[in-house]
Amino acid sequence: MVDASATFDVVVVGGGPAGLAAAIAAAQTGASCALIARQAPYADNRTTALLGGSVDLLAQLEVWPRCRDQAAALHTMRLVDNTGRLIRAPEVRFSCAEIGLEEFGFNIENRLLVAALEQRAAELTDLTRFDDEADSISPQEAEVAIRTLQGKSMSARLVAGADGRHSLCREAAGITVGRRELNQTALTFNFGHSRPHRNISTEFHTPCGPCVFVPLPGDRCSVVWVSFPAEAERLMDLSDDELSEAAEKQSHSILGRIRVEPGRHLFPLAIEQPRQFARRRVALVGEAAHVVPPIGAQGLNMGLRDAADLAEIVRQAMESGEDPGSLRLLKRYDATRRPDITSRTFAIDMANRSLLSDFLPMQSLRAAGMHLIGSIGPLRRLAMREGLAPSWRSPPRVG
Ligand SMILES: Cc1cc2nc3c(=O)[nH]c(=O)nc-3n(C[C@H](O)[C@H](O)[C@H](O)COP(=O)(O)OP(=O)(O)OC[C@H]3O[C@@H](n4cnc5c(N)ncnc54)[C@H](O)[C@@H]3O)c2cc1C
Repeated sequence: MVDASATFDVVVVGGGPAGLAAAIAAAQTGASCALIARQAPYADNRTTALLGGSVDLLAQLEVWPRCRDQAAALHTMRLVDNTGRLIRAPEVRFSCAEIGLEEFGFNIENRLLVAALEQRAAELTDLTRFDDEADSISPQEAEVAIRTLQGKSMSARLVAGADGRHSLCREAAGITVGRRELNQTALTFNFGHSRPHRNISTEFHTPCGPCVFVPLPGDRCSVVWVSFPAEAERLMDLSDDELSEAAEKQSHSILGRIRVEPGRHLFPLAIEQPRQFARRRVALVGEAAHVVPPIGAQGLNMGLRDAADLAEIVRQAMESGEDPGSLRLLKRYDATRRPDITSRTFAIDMANRSLLSDFLPMQSLRAAGMHLIGSIGPLRRLAMREGLAPSWRSPPRVG
C-alpha cells in the first residue's frame, strides 16, 4: 500500500513506449520512482524499426530478451523514387554489412514491445505503479505536486512528462510548442505476402510522401503509407481484397501476393517541437518532446534516447546526492537532447518537403543528393551511421 501523499525522486507521467522505458531506466538507477499510466492494451497496429542504440538500451532494461523473438532483423534498406517526375533519383540501397553491422536494427509491433516493457516495469520494486491519470501537475520551488484523476496526491523532485502530444506536463511547466500540421496522413496496416522479404525494408518515395514496407517475422510486413488526407481516407475505406491489391501495386509486386491483416489506422501528420525540453522540474520525453512524420523511423528511437539520457542524469544525481530536478540538471537535459532532436526534426522535414515539392530545382537537388549517397561509399556509410543514431553520442548506460 502506497502512502497517498508519498514523495518520489522521479514520477513518470504516461505509459506509452517512451514513458515505460523512462520509468524502467530511472527505477534501475535506484531512485524512488512512480509511473502514472493507465494499464490498457496498446491501441493501434504501428510497428517500430528499432535502430542504433535502441536495442542496446532495451537489453540494458532487461526488456529485449522478452521480445527479441517477435522482431524481424533489418539487413538492407532500399529507397526507391516512385514520384514519376521528370527528374527522378536513382535507387539507393544501404546494406548493414557495409558498416560492419549484423543488422541495422529490428522491426517489432508496438503492442508486443509495450507488453515486454510492461512486464519488466511490473518487476521493479523501486517503481510504484498508479493505474490512473495525472489530473493536475503543479511545479513548485522544491518539488512538483501531482494529483491523479482518482484523487491520489504525491510529489516528485523531477517529473518525466511522457504524456504524448497533448502533454499536460508540458503545459504545467509553461513550455510552449511550435506546431505545423502537414497536409498528409499515414495509413498503417500489416500483411502477409507470398515472396520472402529477405529482411529488406523498401521505402517508395511518392509525390505525396513515403510508402514503406518493413519486414516482420515470417512472411509478413508492416506498412506505413503516407498520402494526402483524402487518398488516405479512400484507402482506409477499401475492402481487404481491394487494399491488398492496392498495396501489391504500390510495392511493384516485390513481395508477391499480398493479403492484408485485420486492423488499419490513420495518423494525421504534424511536426511539433517544444521551445524547451525541460523546465520547472519537468523534463519532456517521447512525443511530448518531438513529433515528426514517419520518415527514416526516427520518432520512438529519439524517445528511447530521451529516456536513456534522462536516466543517466538521474543516476548521476543519485550518486552525488544532488536534487534530480535541480535547474542545473534540467539545463543539462535540455542541452543534451536539443542537438539530436532539432537536427533530426530538420532533416526529416527537409526530406519530406523535397518529396512534396514540384519545384524543378528542388527535384534536381534531391536527385543529385541521392545519386551522391548511392555512388560515393564514404558518404553512403556516413548517411547510414547518422540515420541510425547521432555520431557524437556515446552508447547508452543505464543503472
Ligand atoms: C505511422 C507512424 C509510424 C511510426 N513508425 C516509427 C518507427 O518505425 N520507428 C520509430 O522510432 N518511431 C516511429 N513512429 C513514432 C512513434 O510511434 C512514436 O514516437 C511513439 O509511439 C511515441 O510514444 P510515446 O510513448 O512518446 O507517446 P504515446 O504512445 O502517445 O504515449 C503517451 C501516453 O501518455 C498517456 N497520457 C496522456 N496524458 C496522460 C495523463 N494526464 N496521465 C497519464 N497518462 C497520460 C496516453 O494515454 C498515452 O498512453 C511512428 C509514428 C507513426 C505515426
